[in-house]
Amino acid sequence: MESARKAITRFAPSPTGFLHVGGLRTALYSYLLAKQTGGKFLLRIEDTDRERFVTGGIENILASLYWTGIVPNEGVTLAEDATVIEKGDAGPYIQSKKLDEYRKYAEQLVALQKAYYCFCTPERLEEVRNYRQANKLPPGYDGHCRSLPVAEVTGRLAREERHVIRLSMPDEGETTFYDLIRGEVTFKNADVDDQVLLKSDGYPTYHLAVVVDDHTMGVTHVIRGEEWISSTPKHITLYRYFGWEIPLFAHLPLLLNSDKSKLSKRQGDVAVLDYRDKGYLPEALVNFVAFLGWNPGTEQEFFSLEELVTSFSLAKVNKAGAVFNLEKLDWFNREYLKQKPTEELAHYFDMFMPEDIKNLPSYTKEYVARLAPLLVERVSKGIDLTDMYVSGELIYFFVNPTYDTNNLFWKTIKDRTDRKEKTREYLLHLLSLLEAISTTEFTDVHIKKVVWPFAESLANKGEVLWPMRYALSGRDKSPDPFVLASVLGKEETKKRLQKAIALLV
Ligand code: GLU
Repeated sequence: MESARKAITRFAPSPTGFLHVGGLRTALYSYLLAKQTGGKFLLRIEDTDRERFVTGGIENILASLYWTGIVPNEGVTLAEDATVIEKGDAGPYIQSKKLDEYRKYAEQLVALQKAYYCFCTPERLEEVRNYRQANKLPPGYDGHCRSLPVAEVTGRLAREERHVIRLSMPDEGETTFYDLIRGEVTFKNADVDDQVLLKSDGYPTYHLAVVVDDHTMGVTHVIRGEEWISSTPKHITLYRYFGWEIPLFAHLPLLLNSDKSKLSKRQGDVAVLDYRDKGYLPEALVNFVAFLGWNPGTEQEFFSLEELVTSFSLAKVNKAGAVFNLEKLDWFNREYLKQKPTEELAHYFDMFMPEDIKNLPSYTKEYVARLAPLLVERVSKGIDLTDMYVSGELIYFFVNPTYDTNNLFWKTIKDRTDRKEKTREYLLHLLSLLEAISTTEFTDVHIKKVVWPFAESLANKGEVLWPMRYALSGRDKSPDPFVLASVLGKEETKKRLQKAIALLV
């Protein structure tokens, strides 16, 4: 447990596209801490960068969170009829709806001489940038407008000159904070820019809005990605200037590809809903994402969301980047699929079955239910059925296969002149053995019990088991012949064996 204090946490994404798995991790950890302490987890939408706003972005974030069960109890949420609503007393929770409030706070800082109006033109800022670059100075504003005479500022404002409001960062000293994951972190104030707080279009920047909102929404723990750590001294300075209590910070480690490069942002690889569409189960994705940087310190690997609530601890989150290992996610997914009842699995596989297969006359949902235990051994996620189809490993469950007769001969027999007669004789005997099994007893265990002694009576068991399996699948590799026969059913099994026998005349 983190502490007895009720944590108020938030997830504060910008609706710039699709919710990324990295964002899902931030939301998950924030959710877990809030639940664990009996606090609150809220969702706030940070949409002050209008150029990056994407229509449908908010809906995508909510769909991703609700799908994974990481449901906010305050802020932007979904109503029962799935419309986007805002819930709670500290709203609006969508930043673009409270521009006046941010302006008020920015002006309050100007009055306190902790921020200032800046009238620098884009051209001048460009010159400053070039100069600093040429002189190997850290990037940032040069403080030109910090000390403009009051009268000049008043005049320029009255003439409605284009302006921004900038934070007046202390020139000297250091800003230190305690990060719950990294421990003490210190930045030299001289290295921190006079950040724009209010832009010329009247929108606040992220830095002003995040501090105002975290304060007014009572956030106690700010959990976010490592990329924000260098912004934190600006935020702390703002808290101090306003005289507000500073929340606790936890900066989560970067997500890395297996070659240790930063996790690629190509959307198909990282958007939460793409995982859903590929057939990953929400419980598998959540379990996997929980382990991106955290581990329980025990051998336990499977955690439901409820179990994570009790076991999670920020103190056990690593500083080092977390490798995003897709094979591990596939493994989790398959393990979770295996635990599903057959009926649910049948429904799941039906959803992902390639259309070509669904259009076959032999395709029924009942049959998919019979196949489910076999399929779950062969795929890690629904979309893998398409690969199975393309590689020919799926079709034979539905269609009597065609193949080259020579493939029916087992290796110990294939060079003999009587290979056809012998194989035919064995298959005929096999057919008679199967015939004697009733339809209800046509299970893999029973079929094996009946066929095995016969196979053992031959010089080599493969002399009958191989052609049996090949006749049923038309493939070198497939499930064992007993399983295959039982899943195909007595009638279809007989039909396929008869076809092979007919080829052997
Ligand atoms: N809007 C920021 C983002 O999209 C939030 C950063 C924070 O949590 O403070 O990552």
